[in-house]
Amino acid sequence: MQSVHVRRGDTVGVIAGKERGKRGKVLRVSPEKGRVLVEHVNMIKKHQRPTQKLRQGGIIEREGPLALSNVLVVCPRCDKPGRTGIKVLTDGRKVRTCRRCGESIDRG
Ligand SMILES: [Zn+2]
Repeated sequence: MQSVHVRRGDTVGVIAGKERGKRGKVLRVSPEKGRVLVEHVNMIKKHQRPTQKLRQGGIIEREGPLALSNVLVVCPRCDKPGRTGIKVLTDGRKVRTCRRCGESIDRG
């Protein structure tokens, strides 16, 4: 399987497409589809059928998928979306690092 540079909970920036320049938290990653859902980015209107909970139905707004290749993780130090590298720590754990400044993106 292809490795994915973003994970759920990451803050990402959109670098291409109509949502370019926006930022948000990753809600879901679908590596097999090459798609990612980012909070409050690429909002689309969807018709909601009436359900038990929502009797009225109607139109709801929700996040639409973005191409994984259009988002990059925002480095906390650079405060910009950037490419990430992998660093292996002395204890064998792998962390993602910012290629620009070397800052570790994964905490803990
Ligand atoms: Zn950085």
